Amino acid sequence: MFLWLISSATTALLVFSSALLLYLVSHIFWLSKLYFWFKNPTLKDIPEGAGLWEDVFNALLKYERNNNLNQIKLNAALERFSLTANAIPDGLAILGSANEIEWCTTNAENQLGLDFNSDKNLPIVNLIRDSHFIAYLYSEAYSEPLKLKHCRNSEASLEIQIIQLASNQKLLISRDMTQLEKVDAMRRDFIANVSHELRTPLTVVGGFLETLSDMDGAVPDNLKNYFVMMQEQAGRMRRIIEDLLTLSTIESNTGSPNNSEIDMQSLLRMIQNDAIGLSHGLNQDATLAKHHIHLDADPTLNLRGSLEELRSAFSNLVSNAIRYTPTSDASNSGEIFISWHLQDDQAIFSVRDTGIGIEDKHIDRLTERFYRVDRSRSRETGGTGLGLSIVKHILIRHQAKLSITSKLGVGSTFSAIFPNARIVKKQVAD
Ligand code: ADP
Repeated sequence: MFLWLISSATTALLVFSSALLLYLVSHIFWLSKLYFWFKNPTLKDIPEGAGLWEDVFNALLKYERNNNLNQIKLNAALERFSLTANAIPDGLAILGSANEIEWCTTNAENQLGLDFNSDKNLPIVNLIRDSHFIAYLYSEAYSEPLKLKHCRNSEASLEIQIIQLASNQKLLISRDMTQLEKVDAMRRDFIANVSHELRTPLTVVGGFLETLSDMDGAVPDNLKNYFVMMQEQAGRMRRIIEDLLTLSTIESNTGSPNNSEIDMQSLLRMIQNDAIGLSHGLNQDATLAKHHIHLDADPTLNLRGSLEELRSAFSNLVSNAIRYTPTSDASNSGEIFISWHLQDDQAIFSVRDTGIGIEDKHIDRLTERFYRVDRSRSRETGGTGLGLSIVKHILIRHQAKLSITSKLGVGSTFSAIFPNARIVKKQVAD
């Protein structure tokens, strides 16, 4: 009986062990299937499995299908992005943290003379060797675009703009400006030609009007007023034409201005005297006061630039201050402060007046051609609407900036700010 019990237990243990072994072998079998499938995970070769493994493989199949679908969608989105980016006429390139080319469009390849296949991951400064471009790239001051010659067509010109991305990468945008520059040159030539053509007939008309009004009895008394008006209007047209010609000369002059040292003391005294003359001219009526024109200039500070251009720019600012600062009676004269001084390594020419002032909304537009806050006041005082455009262009040519602050009814300050490179410090004898 005891022996029978032992033999039955042994048999049961054997059966149980064999079943367990079979169970383990089947798991090892499916595990190895899974292992081999993972080496080359294609959807069609995924094992079917049995029992628990059937569920595992089904879940894997579903996951893999979704994955494939997402991959297809991602590829399609990338393809669409690439087609769209290449369809943009501007060239686009992404630069990495060491300014290496990570990606670029076909237009960027053409405009910048790159070949993405061979230039990928190369620093862009090795490929575009223009010193202005290299300085611009390293300056990290990208608020203004850079003008550059087209790398594959010397006749064409580009505008380069860099945008710093959050990821320490840079987006470089190149734009072909050739067509726009041609149109701009045509516009400038047209204005210059029209002004030239109008100048001669206008001089003739003005001359005859003057001769007739000087001749005794040539103009009947009842027409004299009309003659005066005709002369005034001819004079106004002449001033507009002169200003248009000045503006187009400055605009089309792309070379750098004369860099000789300007004696600012004598220039500023000349400007102050002109201003006194203008104030007397505008306020001929004896009941009107003349402006007080104050000059405060640093005697040790000179400037490098074109005397002719800077005299025109400074005179424009001073004459505006006088023209827009009314003087009512002898007790209420307008105050004009001209100052020339050094501040934070920059030289500042500023004109402050106590005139009519300008509302904030107009300030950004004042340097546009023919933009006037008050047309009739501008006209009455001999304005052309071109003065500040001329000032802006002259300052750009001298790498200077125009700053305007104003308060309506209180007065305005116009400042021309020159960079350190244009400053000359001179010794003054005690
Ligand atoms: P304008 O010949 O009409 O004076 P500008 O280009 O010199 O033309 O100036 C443009 C406009 O800016 C002027 O018409 C005037 O409205 C405004 N402006 C310029 N300077 C002053 C100033 N100092 N005070 C008030 N307004 C000014």
